[in-house]
Amino acid sequence: MGNIVAFRAKRQSDPQFGVCPMCRLHDGFVNKGSQHWFKCDKHRIRWLAGINLFDHWRDENRADQMRRFAAIECFEVVEPLWVGSRRDPGPKGAA
Ligand SMILES: [Zn+2]
Repeated sequence: MGNIVAFRAKRQSDPQFGVCPMCRLHDGFVNKGSQHWFKCDKHRIRWLAGINLFDHWRDENRADQMRRFAAIECFEVVEPLWVGSRRDPGPKGAA
């Protein structure tokens, strides 16, 4: 497990894969097969950032992966905020 740090990282603002529209952060991602689901634990939302962007999903223990995904399966699926896009209201409006 030591080589996978993304799951432990908390409250990231890295906008590359979208951020929560409400807090403008994310809590990393979990994989479901080759799908990478980013999430905001605080607002209980998730969004599909992409498929097979990162190779490590192949090395994950399938049961661990399913357990992690099960924890966010009830999160609402949303369109993330893309920082700097036309729909981005800017940090001023962030809650
Ligand atoms: Zn949030």
